[in-house]
Amino acid sequence: MTDEIETTVVEHEQASAQHHRNATPQGRTPRGLKTLPAVDPVERVELLARACHAAGIPATSQRKSVLMAVLELQSHPTADDICQHLSTTGLQISRATVFRTLETLVELDLIAKTCHPGRGVRYDHVNTAHHHLVCLSCNELVDFIDDGLDALTAPDTSSVGFRVVDCRVQVRGICRKCQSKSA
Ligand SMILES: [Zn+2]
Ligand SMILES: [Zn+2]
Repeated sequence: MTDEIETTVVEHEQASAQHHRNATPQGRTPRGLKTLPAVDPVERVELLARACHAAGIPATSQRKSVLMAVLELQSHPTADDICQHLSTTGLQISRATVFRTLETLVELDLIAKTCHPGRGVRYDHVNTAHHHLVCLSCNELVDFIDDGLDALTAPDTSSVGFRVVDCRVQVRGICRKCQSKSA
């Protein structure tokens, strides 16, 4: 009985596939997960030098160290995570300086700022548009890209005077590590 229904649906999908090739983000067969290419830290540090020069500010060693910490951690760290990481490398940078430097790096588009439930503001070493898998148990964030989600359009928000910048999606669930812990 179940098999029969499934077969019918599959046939229907095949028949209509040509009409809906790119238009069914909620199709029965999930798309494969596309992760992002690794960020080249050398390239990003060169970009820091160029961005600071363009902004008329010095590319200080502190700016470089904070950027390197975000690139090394790759875990969408909070400012406190970054402070902790820097202290383990023996660098003496005050908490206030780390906070200020992170904001400067965001303004220069060298890192991105993201907000997720559980941990407040987190800094993202990926500075291009992408989406996140969010683990509701350990708050891990995993980056991915997806043409289907990129094609989502926001509703008209002009009635509330809201200007849309982009649409980014959180796919929420439980990561493999947390699933094996609770198994
Ligand atoms: Zn988890
Ligand atoms: Zn990210």
